[in-house]
Amino acid sequence: MLSLDASAVRLGASAENKTDAIRQVGQILIDSGYIEPGYVDSLLAREKVANTFLGNGIAIPHGVPKDRGLIKRTGVAVLQVPDGVDWNPGDRVYLVVGIAAKSDEHLQILTNLTDVLGDPTEAERLAHTHNPVDIERRLSSGAEPTSPTTTKPLPDDLPNHFDIAIDSPHGLHARPATALVDIAKEFDATIRVRHGDRAGDAKSLIALLNLGIGSGATIRVMAEGPDADAALTALREAIEAGLEEEEDAPVAGGEMAPIDWEGRSIAGVAASPGLAAGPAWQYQRGKIVVAATARDPSAELTRLDRAIEGAKRELAELYEEVKSRYGAGKAAIFRAHAEFLEDQGIIEAAKTRIRDASRSAGYAWEQSYGQQAKDLAAQKDALLAARAVDLRDVGRRVLRLLAERIEDAPKLPDTPVILVADDLSPSDTAKLDPALALGICTASGGPTSHTAIIARSLGIPALVGAGDSVLEIADGTDIVLDGNSGTLVLTPTDADRATAERVQADMANQREEERRACYQPAIMTDGARVEVVANIAAPEEAARAVEAGGEGVGLLRTEFLFLGRDQAPTEEEQTDAYTTMVEALNGLPIIIRTLDIGGDKSVPYMSMPVEENPFLGERGIRLCLNRPELFRTQLRAIFRASKKGPVRIMFPMISTLEELKRAKALTEEVRQEIGADPVEIGIMIEVPSAVMMAEELAAEADFFSVGSNDLTQYCLAIDRMHPMLSRQADGLHPAVLRMIDQTVKAAEKAGKWVGVCGGIAGDPRGVVILTGLGVKELSVSIPSIAAVKAQIRGLSMEKANDLAKRALACSNAAAVRRLR
Ligand code: PEP
Ligand code: MG
Repeated sequence: MLSLDASAVRLGASAENKTDAIRQVGQILIDSGYIEPGYVDSLLAREKVANTFLGNGIAIPHGVPKDRGLIKRTGVAVLQVPDGVDWNPGDRVYLVVGIAAKSDEHLQILTNLTDVLGDPTEAERLAHTHNPVDIERRLSSGAEPTSPTTTKPLPDDLPNHFDIAIDSPHGLHARPATALVDIAKEFDATIRVRHGDRAGDAKSLIALLNLGIGSGATIRVMAEGPDADAALTALREAIEAGLEEEEDAPVAGGEMAPIDWEGRSIAGVAASPGLAAGPAWQYQRGKIVVAATARDPSAELTRLDRAIEGAKRELAELYEEVKSRYGAGKAAIFRAHAEFLEDQGIIEAAKTRIRDASRSAGYAWEQSYGQQAKDLAAQKDALLAARAVDLRDVGRRVLRLLAERIEDAPKLPDTPVILVADDLSPSDTAKLDPALALGICTASGGPTSHTAIIARSLGIPALVGAGDSVLEIADGTDIVLDGNSGTLVLTPTDADRATAERVQADMANQREEERRACYQPAIMTDGARVEVVANIAAPEEAARAVEAGGEGVGLLRTEFLFLGRDQAPTEEEQTDAYTTMVEALNGLPIIIRTLDIGGDKSVPYMSMPVEENPFLGERGIRLCLNRPELFRTQLRAIFRASKKGPVRIMFPMISTLEELKRAKALTEEVRQEIGADPVEIGIMIEVPSAVMMAEELAAEADFFSVGSNDLTQYCLAIDRMHPMLSRQADGLHPAVLRMIDQTVKAAEKAGKWVGVCGGIAGDPRGVVILTGLGVKELSVSIPSIAAVKAQIRGLSMEKANDLAKRALACSNAAAVRRLR
C-alpha cells in the first residue's frame, strides 16, 4: 500500500505562480528520492497538455507517461501554500500534490483525495494546518483500492450492464476517467460504475476516481434510461479502445494520430504543422552598438531622419517581396511596421534627447522606442501588449542604420537547423529560407502571432510558447520538432528519429498523392458531393486557387484591397481587381464578400472612431451601411466585374434582418444603375443573433456561409486574437456546432444552401462534422484544398452523419475532438 510520508509534506510555502509551485513540489519529490531531477520538466509538460486542477483548492501535478523512466520509486509529495497560487484563471490552489507513480499505486492517494474534494471544510483545514501529520493521515488513510474503507451504501445494480476489465496499464486514473465521464455525459441515461462493493456515478469524475480502479480490475458498467443501450455500447467500445488519447486511431483520412515520442520532450503550442529533425541552433540577435553622446545635434537629427527614411524603404521592399511570394495578407504586417515610423511621439521624444541632452541619434532612438515598447508591453489589453514585439522589431530596423557596429549578427548556418529563439520577429521569420530553417521553436509567442502565420505560409513546422527552458538547449543538439502536436523532443531515441523520418516521408507522399488528384471532385463514397473552394485575399490568388484544385472562390476577403494604402481603392482599381479574379476563374463561381473593416482590421485613412470594443463596434456591414458611398463604390465595381463571369455577393457580420434588407435594397439600386444581371446574394453567419434569426434571414438570402472564426468568438465570448484565451476558442465546441446545425436546418427549410468559410472548414475533424451536418460547400485556404478533397473522397455520408450527431451531443470541444 502506498502511503504519504510526513517528511514529503512541506507546510507554509509560498509560490509565485503555478510553475514555481510545480518546481517546488518536484524538488520535494527529488529530495525524497522518488524522481530524477529531469522528471520536473515532465510535470511541467503535463500541465501544458492537461489540467491537473482537481477542485476545492487541490491540484495533482504528475508527469507524462513516457517519462516514467525518470521515476526511481513511486511516491507522493505535498506542498501546502496557505495563501494559494493561481492555477487556472479563477482556480486557486492551496495543496499541490505532486505524484510520481510508476504504475497505478497512487490510486489510493487519489481515492483519499477525492474524499477531501467532496468536503470543503476538510480541504480548508488541510490548506492551513500546521501539522504535516494531518495531511499525511488524511491522504494515507484507507486500504488497498480493491477493498476501500470509505464505503458508501451499495446501490442496487441497474438492469442493463456489462462487466469489463480495465486493461490500461495505469488503471482508471484522471485522464481516462475524464474520457469515460465525457462519454457518459453524452447520454440521458443514469449510468453507474461499480468496482468491488462500491459504485459511483459515471458522470462524476470524483465519484469514478473514488472507486480506486487499478489496472486489471474488473468493473461493472450499468445504465438505466431511454438511451441506456446506446450508452452501454459507446462505453464498452471506448473502454475496449483504452480510453487513452495517445492510443486513438485517426479519423477517416486527413488527421494524423498523435505520435508517442519516447525521448524527453517539452510541450508547446502547435503553430505550423509538419515535422523537423536536426540540430538545434539558438537564434540570438546581434547587439547593436551605438555611441551614447554626440557633439553635433543638427547632424544627429539629420542622421535620424535618414535612418527612418531608410527603414521605410526597407519595409516597402520587404512588403513587396513578401506580397509577391505569399500574398498581400501575409505582407500586411510590414505596412503596419511602416506605420510605427509615422509616429511623431516616438520621433519627437528621440529628437528632444538629441537636442537637449546631446545624445547620439542611435542612443536617443533606442531610448525612445524602447520606452514606448515597454509601456505597450505593460498594457492590460493583451493585443496591445503583443504589439510591443512589432515596435521593437521596427525600432531595431532603424537602429541598425544608426549603429557604429553590430556584434555577432546572427547568420544562419549554411546547413539546415531547427531555430530556437525567445521570440522571432515577423521580419526575422520572413527572411528565413525553408531549406535551411527546418523548424522553429520559440519560448514565448502565440499561435495567432504574425510569426506563426508567416511560418505556416513558408511551410516551416513551428511550435511556440515552449517556455524558457528551450533557450538552454545547446547548439548542435539533435532534436525533433513536432509541429502537429506542438512537441519538442529534446532527447530523441533512435526509434524517434526513425519515426520522424518515416512520418516526414509519409506526409510528403500523401501530399504528392493529394496534389495529383486535386482536380477530381470531392464525391463521398456513397455519392454525396461537397464543393471545395478557396478563401483568397488578393487578385493573383484566384489563379493559384484554380491550380490547387479549387472549384471556385468561397470567400474573397475584399478588405485586403483596402489595407496597407493611403486611401481607398477607386472604383476603377476595384473593378480591375475583381475582373482579374473573375477571369482567372474562367467560369468557376466567386463569392465576393463586401468590405469587412473594423474589429482587428482598421484602416487609418477611414478615420474610424477609437472604440472600446472594436469587435462589437462599427464593423463589416454596419460600417458599410453607415458609409453608403464607400459601399456603393464597391458594389458598382462588383457588378461591373460580374459581367465577365459568375459572381455572388456576400455581406459580412449581418446581425439583424433589417441590415440585410437595407444592404439588399442598396445593392439592387446599384445593380440597376450599372445595368448588370441579378446575382445571388448571401450572408455570412457569424453572429449568434443571425443563427437565431436564420429562418427569417433564409427567406431573404440566397445562401449562407458560416464564418466560424467569428461565430466562435461571439458564441464563446473569447476574443479570436487573444494570445492566451484564443486557444480555447475552438470552433468545434458543441455550442458552435449546434449553432451551425440550427443554421443548416433553417436554410434547408427554405431550400437554401450553407457553406462554411472559417478555419474549421479546413480542419480534418471539422471536414467530417460539417459535412455530416449538411454543409454543402467548404471554403479553405489554398494549400488545404487538395487534402480536404482527398479526405472527403475517402468518407461516407453515413459516417459523417454519425460523427456529427455524436459531436452535437458532446459537452465540450475536447470531447468532440476525442470522438472516433
Ligand atoms: C470568419 O469569421 O470565420 C471568416 C471567415 O471571416 P474573417 O476570418 O475574415 O473574419
Ligand atoms: Mg468573420
